[in-house]
Amino acid sequence: MSWDVLPLVDATDDRPLIERRAVLRGGFYEIQARTMIERVPQSAGIAQRWAVSPYRGCAHACRGCGARAGHRRLGLDAGRDFDTRIVVKPNAVARLRVELGRWGGEPVAVGVSGDCYQEAERTYRLMPGIVAALAQAGVPFTVYTKSPLVLRDAGVLARAGAQVAVSIAFVDERIRRVVEPGAVGAQARLELVSSLVEAGVDCRVLMAPVLPLLSDAADQLEATVRRIAAAGATAVEPVVLRLPSGTRAWYGEWLARAHPHLVERYEELYDRAGLPSAGYEQRIIGQIGQLCRRYGMRAGPVAPEPREPGFPQLTVV
Ligand code: SF4
Repeated sequence: MSWDVLPLVDATDDRPLIERRAVLRGGFYEIQARTMIERVPQSAGIAQRWAVSPYRGCAHACRGCGARAGHRRLGLDAGRDFDTRIVVKPNAVARLRVELGRWGGEPVAVGVSGDCYQEAERTYRLMPGIVAALAQAGVPFTVYTKSPLVLRDAGVLARAGAQVAVSIAFVDERIRRVVEPGAVGAQARLELVSSLVEAGVDCRVLMAPVLPLLSDAADQLEATVRRIAAAGATAVEPVVLRLPSGTRAWYGEWLARAHPHLVERYEELYDRAGLPSAGYEQRIIGQIGQLCRRYGMRAGPVAPEPREPGFPQLTVV
């Protein structure tokens, strides 16, 4: 969203920008989006350059979420506010249709600034309209999620030729409970993969973020890839934790509390931009690639099939 083009506001009003601009309804901040197709920050580590996000902020509350800094532009903090103050764009579908009218067809990611199937989607039901708009425009797209709510739209996603990437970085519940406290557990996500595959959805796994020194041991990677393959996924895209501005402070604060002995090693591993050292990243990606081959899956980003505009005639209910 282009917050920088919002009109001037009352300079004497010192409430956060979001509270001056949004309507607070049912615990969500509703705001009219002016731009739906946004550039993906390079630090995100995913293949697409453009993204559509009906929600900003995410109740899944992942410690290492790379989208946290977006909340600062709203006058909120990148920590607890990102997890609890969720911004909704009720005009997302109408606005997206306008932008797709002049879109060149480059693939887009859906759900980068906040999981597009988090709890807010139960109330707002924006995704069926977004899926239909992208499919009818012939734009290849990948929906990123950790939420079983995506199953509600399995039929429409399958007919649209959408790709769904379910995030499963590790299968150790002790880690998951502390770093992804608002998301369902790994077993539920593995079952979600199986259900999506059964429903005919082009489903793969985003193995992200691999947490240095916490979830990157050879046996942890092996267990994760093995169970992903057993769930029926055919492709895995691994991404090592990135620590851009906003994420770095929130994750670092937790790391210092929970694993103080690792702080120095993280400082050695990450550069000022929050990227892990190339040597470390390549080693982890290489290990996961080998495991994927062992278990008969592709590794790395797999582009969704391009579609003819207008395909298919979707009925959104
Ligand atoms: S589910 Fe995705 S968008 Fe939501 S907090 Fe986790 S990493 Fe961020």
